[in-house]
Amino acid sequence: MYQRYQDAMALVQKYGKPDLFLTMTCNPNWPEIKAELLPGQSPHDRPDLLTRIFHSKFDEMKIDILTKHVLGKVLAYPYVIEYQKRGLPHAHIVIILDENDKLRTLDYYDNILRVEIPDKRLEPRLYNGVLKHMIHGPCGMYNERSPCMTNGRCKRRFPKPFSSITTLGNDSYPVYRRREGESVPSERSDRVALEVRQGPNYDEVQQFIDGRWVCAPKALWKIFKFPMTKMTPSVERLQIQLPNKQQVRFYTFQDITNVLGDEYYSRTMLTQFFQLNVDDETAN
Ligand SMILES: [Zn+2]
Repeated sequence: MYQRYQDAMALVQKYGKPDLFLTMTCNPNWPEIKAELLPGQSPHDRPDLLTRIFHSKFDEMKIDILTKHVLGKVLAYPYVIEYQKRGLPHAHIVIILDENDKLRTLDYYDNILRVEIPDKRLEPRLYNGVLKHMIHGPCGMYNERSPCMTNGRCKRRFPKPFSSITTLGNDSYPVYRRREGESVPSERSDRVALEVRQGPNYDEVQQFIDGRWVCAPKALWKIFKFPMTKMTPSVERLQIQLPNKQQVRFYTFQDITNVLGDEYYSRTMLTQFFQLNVDDETAN
């Protein structure tokens, strides 16, 4: 994971800071999933369906964003697939936009991003979706035992203050437009129960096996050979070595003096990278 992070930083070095961070989650109640269930089945009985339909919908979203450029021309992106505690897949994509499509004005932000609860009368479907899937909490004074609470404060800083317009912070996230509206009903959030036991029969091996949790959708994602991560343009890691300290590979039947005397065997990805920069102006 650390190497992937460094690869992503290589993209940032070349293309600049990311502009958008986008998350897509799997909804087990998607009609495409429900339509394929057999009588008596629930979506969680069919991790194969969850996985394949999420994969197809993620592909569609990638076409919209990376090929059709609906949010602006994309120069570079890494993405990663992760799993929620109940095993539903979700994707995170970090997007670096072309210089001409960067979000420079506040109107741009308001154009592609909304953090307000939609009007129940004007957009009932969106209103219901946002209330059902996108509300944090309750936490703070309404629920001090919420998992997001540390030292009496929500670590995700909810509730956010109202703001009549979007404003840009100094080298920080923008404060998005969040106009005061009618209050909305809110329900309790999900939770997970976990038990860690250390009794007379403490079994470290068993605890490791119990703790290494691969949920069914993740297992199927791997069985279907869907990619867990991707990055475009790809980043190639070069093995670094000091001059004349590279590894040399040869077969047992080869004569060692010939191998070491032959320039061909001293070539590595790193030496050839330097050579390409010497030979090819475009590479340089
Ligand atoms: Zn909170």
